[in-house]
Amino acid sequence: MSTAAAYALSTPEGTFEKVTVERREPGPHDVLIDIAYAGICHSDIHTARNEWGRTRYPCVPGHEIAGTVAAVGAAVGKFAVGDRVGVGCMVGSCGVCGPCLADEEQYCARGTVMTYNSAVDPSVQAEGHTLGGYATQIVVTEDFVLSIPDGIGLDVAAPLLCAGITLFSPLRHWGAGPGKKVAIIGMGGLGHVGVKLAAAMGAEVTVLSHSLSKQEDGVRFGARHYYATSDKQTFRDLRNSFDLILNTVAADLPIDNYLRLLALDGTLVVLGLPDQPMSVRSFTIAGLRRSLAGSMIGGIAQTQEMLDFCAAHGIGAEIELIAADEIDGAYERVVASDVRYRFVIDAATM
Ligand SMILES: [Zn+2]
Ligand SMILES: [Zn+2]
Repeated sequence: MSTAAAYALSTPEGTFEKVTVERREPGPHDVLIDIAYAGICHSDIHTARNEWGRTRYPCVPGHEIAGTVAAVGAAVGKFAVGDRVGVGCMVGSCGVCGPCLADEEQYCARGTVMTYNSAVDPSVQAEGHTLGGYATQIVVTEDFVLSIPDGIGLDVAAPLLCAGITLFSPLRHWGAGPGKKVAIIGMGGLGHVGVKLAAAMGAEVTVLSHSLSKQEDGVRFGARHYYATSDKQTFRDLRNSFDLILNTVAADLPIDNYLRLLALDGTLVVLGLPDQPMSVRSFTIAGLRRSLAGSMIGGIAQTQEMLDFCAAHGIGAEIELIAADEIDGAYERVVASDVRYRFVIDAATM
């Protein structure tokens, strides 16, 4: 057992406090990571504040982790001390079910072990729950550690471990590329990475944002078109246009209006997770054989593919670096959509 400094909430209403957490002694297949940076994802906020009703306390969020290898277990073959590495939303899965064998560990039939707020794998630790990346160190089995290529800074790589793969996976699954028209709803932490990825894949990218306030950025990130969804004319102009629409917004949207923007056989993929059920008119999807789908992060192999793709195309997240004692204020600004585009905690300030 070793200890690490971390930032935790002990109640849903509390503020973050510096605590000391225990990390297991690295087993034969484990990697001990010195964390350099941890991104702040909106899911961190939902979990820390128990907005999904299943938070275990104390809660140490953080599933956008980048750092360097500090030690490896005797059987670790993929990593050596000093390697640049990342950890995303998952730290374990059963490894033998259908989804796991298909490299889709995020859909593990027996339940994926998430980086924080999951019951720990009993083969690894007797009791407790996982504690995430708002910390100076973490121990993760090598199968769930990603290699961060030299071409990406660790700070701008951190958000790719959740935001990046959340967008990359559906773009790949639904075939974004040359000749495809892709729309991204929302220009926040998820959406801005989606614009960069889809443009680098060769798709014709349109941003659908509430206002035009981030239009210059959107075009700089690779969008060809940028529309305000507060303008009703947008929905008339873009009707039947897109092969793929990725919805990154967690608010409840009038989803029929967006489905009507799909062309024949187009698909709208839900990535942001509003808590209210969606209601859809059957005529909207029956017409033009449209699909409404969902997607959740991506498998480990695809996450590595995403990081390699980002390095090859010079893609990183746009970040605001903060100190560990600024997490509470950063949460307020994320909730108010006042961040361009992802907060990243500098673990050196812990
Ligand atoms: Zn996330
Ligand atoms: Zn499984």
